Amino acid sequence: MCIGWLKKLCHWGPLTALGIIHTITIMTIHCSRQLPRESYLDTAISTSFFVLCLTTLYYFLNAIIEGPGYLDPKWMPEKAIDVQYLQYCIVCQGYKAPRSHHCRRCNRCVLKMDHHCPWINTCVGHRNHGHFATFLATAVAGSWFSSVILISWTATVLSVKPLPFPPPSLITLILVMFSIGLAIGVQLALGMLLYFQILAIVRNRTEIEGWILEKARYRRGNTDNKYVHPYSKGWLFNVKQVITLDCTPVGDGITWPVIDGCDQYTLTREQLAQKLDKRKRARNYRIIKSASGARCPIGHGFGVFCHPRCSDEPHIKLDVGDIVTVTRWKQYWLFGEKDQKGNAQSKRVRGWFPRPCAIEVIEGDLKSHK
Ligand SMILES: [Zn+2]
Ligand SMILES: [Zn+2]
Repeated sequence: MCIGWLKKLCHWGPLTALGIIHTITIMTIHCSRQLPRESYLDTAISTSFFVLCLTTLYYFLNAIIEGPGYLDPKWMPEKAIDVQYLQYCIVCQGYKAPRSHHCRRCNRCVLKMDHHCPWINTCVGHRNHGHFATFLATAVAGSWFSSVILISWTATVLSVKPLPFPPPSLITLILVMFSIGLAIGVQLALGMLLYFQILAIVRNRTEIEGWILEKARYRRGNTDNKYVHPYSKGWLFNVKQVITLDCTPVGDGITWPVIDGCDQYTLTREQLAQKLDKRKRARNYRIIKSASGARCPIGHGFGVFCHPRCSDEPHIKLDVGDIVTVTRWKQYWLFGEKDQKGNAQSKRVRGWFPRPCAIEVIEGDLKSHK
C-alpha cells in the first residue's frame, strides 16, 4: 500500500508539482520574513499563506495516497441478471459498475472516474474527488497570498526609499520574479480546473458523464425521450456527497442515490445504446501504407504532419494489410481498433492513425474513402 503511493509520487507530474510548491513557498517565506510588519493585515497575510501552504501539501498528498478507488477485478453486480445493463471490461475481466470507467494509465476500472490527472499521477475519482478539489482551492488561494507578498517585496526593493533589509542579490531578484510568474500561473491554470471541478461537484456529473450527456442529447435529437442525468439531486445534496469534514466521500462508489424516475442503470443503459450506435456507424478499413504510431508522422503528406491530434489518446502502429474498424473520422486522421484476426487473448490496439494510410473496405471490395 505504502509502496503503491510512493511509486505514484515518483513520477514527473507529482515531482514537478512539488517542485513548484517548494519554490513558491521558500521564496515567499524569504520575502515575508524580510518585509517589515506594519499592521495586523501583514501578519494575517503571512499566516494565511503559511496555513494554506501546509493544507495544499496535505490535500495534494492525500489525493495521491487515497487514490480514486478502484473496482475489484472480475467485478459482478449482486444480481447476475443485471449484467445485461453493464459494459464489460476486457482488461479487468469484469463488469463496469455504474459511473466506473477503465483508465488506460492506471490500468484498472476507476470508481466514478472524472479524469486521469498527470500532476497527481493517478485518476480523480470517487475516493479522492474531495481531496483533489480542496487541494485546488487551497493551492489557488495560497498562490494568491504568495503573489501579494512577493509583489510587495519587489515594490519595496524598487522603491526610492531606503531598504528596511540588506539589498538582495541578482539571483534572489531573479528567483522572486520567477516565483511571481509561477504563482500567477498556478492561479490561472488551477483556477480554471477548480471552476470545472466545482461545476462537476455541484451538478454531480463527472467530466466523462458530461460527454455521455452531450452524446445522449445529440443521439435523441428533438424526440420527447429526453435523457436525464440520474445523479443530480440538488446542489446542496450533490456537494455533501463529495465535500465532507475529512473529505471522505459518501457511499461505496458502486450504488448511487438517483432521482425519481431513474434507476441504478439509467446511465449504463444509455452508454450501451451509444456503444451500439457507434458499432452501427463503424466501417472497416484496410491499411495500404504502414503507420508508425508517431504524433507528427513524416511521409503521409503535409496535411497530416501539420494537423496532429491534440488529445492524450494513443496513436497506433499498423502494418500493410491490417484491418481496422474505424469509429471516428477527422480530415487527416482516423480512429479505430485493429482487427486481431480472431486472437481474443491479444491486447486491444485502439487509437488514431493517418487517414492516407487506409482505404475503406466495402463488401469485399476496396474503395477509396473520401
Ligand atoms: Zn477495467
Ligand atoms: Zn488513471
